[in-house]
Amino acid sequence: MINNSGKINFTIDANDKSSLARATHFQTEHGEIKTPIFMPVGTNGVVKTLTPAELKQANSQIILGNTYHLYLRPGMEIIKKAGGLHKFSSWDRPILTDSGGFQVFSLAHLSQITDEEVVFQSHIDGSKHKLSPQKSMEIQNSLGSDIVMAFDECTPYPCDYKKAREAMKRTHHWEKLSKQHFEKMESAYGHNQFLFGIIQGSVYDELRKESAEYLSKLNFDGYAIGGLAVGEPKKRMFEILENVVPLLPESRPHYLMGVGKPEDIVRAIERGIDMFDCVIPTRNARNGLLYTWKGRIKIKQAQYKDDLTAVDPDCTCYTCQNFSRAYLRHLYKKNEITGLRLNTLHNINFFIELTQQARQALLTDKFDEFRNNFYANYPIEDDHWKQNIKKRKQRRKKHLRENETN
Ligand SMILES: [Zn+2]
Repeated sequence: MINNSGKINFTIDANDKSSLARATHFQTEHGEIKTPIFMPVGTNGVVKTLTPAELKQANSQIILGNTYHLYLRPGMEIIKKAGGLHKFSSWDRPILTDSGGFQVFSLAHLSQITDEEVVFQSHIDGSKHKLSPQKSMEIQNSLGSDIVMAFDECTPYPCDYKKAREAMKRTHHWEKLSKQHFEKMESAYGHNQFLFGIIQGSVYDELRKESAEYLSKLNFDGYAIGGLAVGEPKKRMFEILENVVPLLPESRPHYLMGVGKPEDIVRAIERGIDMFDCVIPTRNARNGLLYTWKGRIKIKQAQYKDDLTAVDPDCTCYTCQNFSRAYLRHLYKKNEITGLRLNTLHNINFFIELTQQARQALLTDKFDEFRNNFYANYPIEDDHWKQNIKKRKQRRKKHLRENETN
């Protein structure tokens, strides 16, 4: 079966009257995607600490896999031998894989970048590799994901106008090549894949506009907005969404890559975004930060020592149904692995529940009530974007150090 992009069977189930929020659905061969949706991140073919059964228990409909990481470790040979990433990781619901672009530009040691390809050294062992639009399509074909992302160049923040424009132009060239190559490939495991394009252009409105208009003409199955949530002020991110989303084809899913906190997700839904992914719920769970409808709690704090209530009394997850804050605090303080698992299960459940409640509200014409209720109870964090740039750099260094010693 040859891949045939631009043929997604996409339905808008409901539109909000007072914002661009909408509920939609589309069918993949591994299951239906109902939006708004939060997609947990499974970088290495696993959502850290959770099994597929637990992910299903948390109502996870689709997960992400990272092309760059999976290509380097364990490598494509074993994944192909297993029959693709679904079989290798025993996850039978939909998978979205990224293009590898984001990690190549943020993690690897780049040695050369041309209009044809990127030559880079692995951040793990220094080995030399090449990634190109064609190669990215081939890797994602071997992974067998349901949603494939076109190969793009994600610029960091800050990025001057000239560089942002160059990267956007290159991205457009690469995405066109991605689509041409994608449409020539046979499906590796007999199921159809969809191809999404990625809008770039950093924080420059005219570049974002140009990118949205150019890519819309290429007829992708869906449209992602990349290169945001990379350190720019939050206010700017929402302004860009307000300018870009109305330019995207209405009859395609809109995906905001790498976002975000609960309040960012609600605000982006209002601006017409359907799909989200972020490491926040999983990473923060491992740091003892748990999400509730009244904001985040730090489970290590002394105030939870004698607290026998659930993390969130309204939450239906396995963690909240069976364990108390005091117990989770105890596990966290003692570095018990089960604590990390229970925390992750709760946070994933919370993020998915958030998007499902938004969907339910849209379907019943109560989105206004939903968001007013959310904002009334959920304290919005200050945007410490300047400090976040520093934190981002430290995290990257830590990540590189850890991988290099493994
Ligand atoms: Zn819970």
